[in-house]
Amino acid sequence: MTAPRTVTVPTSDHGDVTIPEPAWCIGIGHDVPNLRAEIAHQGEPFDITVNTARGPRRLLELMLWQDPFPSPASPHGATVYQVARLLDGDHFGYDFAGLEGLVTDLLEAAGTVRRIAACLRIEYALGGGR
Ligand SMILES: [Zn+2]
Repeated sequence: MTAPRTVTVPTSDHGDVTIPEPAWCIGIGHDVPNLRAEIAHQGEPFDITVNTARGPRRLLELMLWQDPFPSPASPHGATVYQVARLLDGDHFGYDFAGLEGLVTDLLEAAGTVRRIAACLRIEYALGGGR
């Protein structure tokens, strides 16, 4: 049996802190001294993209996340969750059920885009598209 993987992170308030390192963590920020409460495990980001005239562009970015020393107010505690970073740069955490809600929102947004495309098709049929 192999020992669990660990990482030692320098902190400005607790010195070097050694913690279990999830296999999915890419180690961003583990070499920069911060507060212990600011330590986070971050997974490889996945871009959700659309194709544009200038190539694929990101709609949102998803990545696994874990706060090993969460604040008492953290809705996710120390459990692993997904972070979605939106076009405006803001980000939100989703557990499994929340991520299913995000899927529903994206499907509804796709339906809205499809209805707008149908309106544009009608506009073209009426001569507006020339
Ligand atoms: Zn990590």
